[in-house]
Amino acid sequence: MRNIMVVGSISTDFVVTADRRPETGETITGKDFKTTFGGKGANQAVASARLGGHVSMVGTVGNDIFGQELVKNLATNGIAVKNVERVTHFPSGSAHITIVDGDNAIVYIPGANNAFDLDRVEKLAAEMEQTDLVIIQNELPQDVVDKIIAVCYEKDVKVLYNPAPARTLDEDSLEKVTFITPNESEFKLMFPGLTVSEGVKKYPKKLIVTLGSKGVCYHDGISERIIPSYHVTPVDTTGAGDTFNGAFAVGITSGLDMEASLHFGNLAAALSIQKFGAQGGMPTLEEMKGNDK
Ligand code: ATP
Repeated sequence: MRNIMVVGSISTDFVVTADRRPETGETITGKDFKTTFGGKGANQAVASARLGGHVSMVGTVGNDIFGQELVKNLATNGIAVKNVERVTHFPSGSAHITIVDGDNAIVYIPGANNAFDLDRVEKLAAEMEQTDLVIIQNELPQDVVDKIIAVCYEKDVKVLYNPAPARTLDEDSLEKVTFITPNESEFKLMFPGLTVSEGVKKYPKKLIVTLGSKGVCYHDGISERIIPSYHVTPVDTTGAGDTFNGAFAVGITSGLDMEASLHFGNLAAALSIQKFGAQGGMPTLEEMKGNDK
């Protein structure tokens, strides 16, 4: 129960706040600097683990100080890290974020996250078979994602695919995943010409579209359902989707039905956005209990 494998990215976010962006060749003094743990894979792993999931992380970091800290953070959150490899030919993944007047400009360097090859997926197949759910996102190379979907389908292992950042997906992989969770803009790119209502109707009990403050939409096989979000005042919505996915995974692998699992995901995400940083506000099971409606 609740055995979850997350295959995905692990990164550090370097966040600078300044009054303006420097011109080329110019140096300016900024206002603030923070580092936070990130990478969609790592975020979703932490969200699941905080809520009682037995989580194993599969990913790659560089042989640098950031890699050490990234692995330590996962382990501190109770995540098994034996499948986090260290490579010497790439730096650890990083996102370099400048915030001016609340608007982000981001340079993302995948680094070690791209050092993931198809052979490794084959080697993981036996372990995947032992898990209740495999979670993947789009911060790994496309061929790796497709291969994981194919191997899990062959072994009859459930897959939760969070297609972020957006890229197109072939129909075959779409058929093979158990759940797919785009946000509205990812949905538009993946299903051009379809409205959200038409999309969920076409893929009942599989396609879950997250709608930010409006909650989530899916089709239960009989009718379209909107599971509303919680009314909260957000402090930082970074990682809302990651928290939602990690929590939904715990719900499903705990034996909750889809609707209850979506509700669980909405609550976790609503709690997480009330604190700074993607992982900073991710709730524990205890914190969830006092807040359910
Ligand atoms: P992000 O990229 O910020 O991590 P996302 O774009 O992948 O998020 P969203 O659809 O914005 O995903 O949000 C995911 C879930 O988080 C929503 O379905 C909802 O449950 C919750 N959520 C997001 N924003 C809000 C909000 N303002 N108030 C309440 N819940 C929210």
